[in-house]
Amino acid sequence: MNYIPLASRYQNMQYNRCGYSGLKLPAISLGLWHNFGNVDDPTNFRNILLHAFDSGITHFDLANNYGPPPGSAEENFGKLLATDLKSHRDELIISTKAGYTMWDGPYGDWGSKKYLISSLDQSLKRMGIPYVDIFYHHRPDPDTPLEETMTALDLIVKQGKALYVGLSNYKPKEAKEAISILKQLGTPCLIHQPKYSMFERSPEEGLFKVLEDEKIGCIPFSPLAQGMLTNKYLKGIPETSRAAKATGFLQAAAITPEKLNQINKLNEIAKTRNQTLAQMALAWVLRQQCVTSVLVGASSTAQLTDSIETLNNLEFSSAELLTIEQILTG
Ligand code: NDP
Repeated sequence: MNYIPLASRYQNMQYNRCGYSGLKLPAISLGLWHNFGNVDDPTNFRNILLHAFDSGITHFDLANNYGPPPGSAEENFGKLLATDLKSHRDELIISTKAGYTMWDGPYGDWGSKKYLISSLDQSLKRMGIPYVDIFYHHRPDPDTPLEETMTALDLIVKQGKALYVGLSNYKPKEAKEAISILKQLGTPCLIHQPKYSMFERSPEEGLFKVLEDEKIGCIPFSPLAQGMLTNKYLKGIPETSRAAKATGFLQAAAITPEKLNQINKLNEIAKTRNQTLAQMALAWVLRQQCVTSVLVGASSTAQLTDSIETLNNLEFSSAELLTIEQILTG
């Protein structure tokens, strides 16, 4: 059926400026790591993507290896871009990445110029577009000189294959160095993509300070700890959940009795705020000064609606923050 986007799609989303740049990102962005591969239901992922666009989500995050099989999320996204979203490319911020294993041999992984340039060329072909809006180095490479990796990012922008560049999974010291090299090259780092949630707080130990000092945007991934920070695992592991799926990255063993105890207590606080636990967990991430957008995943349109409704209540009292802190550290 022909898709006609909702005329009201920009009315209820919040758009935040990304660091010191001209670019605004929606407070909620959608990631295609899970649920958009060839193993997934095409009707479902089309519905999720179009529901996101209808809700004012303009930013879609991909990587060369998303699937499974690797590359299929970009292909599937490309098909929807060529059909349903054909007239809307200029309303979208599309990101992709390279840095993890993508093909066999010495040139399909890490951070060499050879890998980054070839990988982005492959990603553009899979998505059927001449450029992406943001290209990330997906993880730091301990062996390739940082200058080489950053020079490759700079070249990609100068060649017009990406408008902006970003870093992901870089620790504070290496992020600072990379940001400085990019600045000298004349291609400022737009954004950093770290893992951050109530259950993963390492960015608080220096990374956020670097990003604030350097005026770089931040888009935390897995803000719901892959679904643990929702009410879904309170009564066991549902059959259709990420933790139960053979292709999911969340191990059932990660959902320990201690975690469940914390999730239960957090869920009670969320109820007093008239929010779902997912909404409270996302608002908690968005409260950080440097966070531009939270990067959620969704396996259904209902989950995405739940996440977007976070924006109805982003405020925390100091008493609430203290109680949450006690649960997380207790
Ligand atoms: P989340 O922490 O948001 O987890 C998403 C999963 O949580 C969903 O697939 C669903 O799981 C469950 N969920 C979401 N909303 C709800 C809800 N309202 N109620 C109940 N369950 C819910 O993020 P992801 O781990 O998916 O990561 C988001 C994005 O971040 C990725 O798609 C990717 O773009 C990016 N990313 C980047 C990485 C990097 O190294 N740079 C690494 C990992 C991710 P279920 O299937 O069980 O329903």
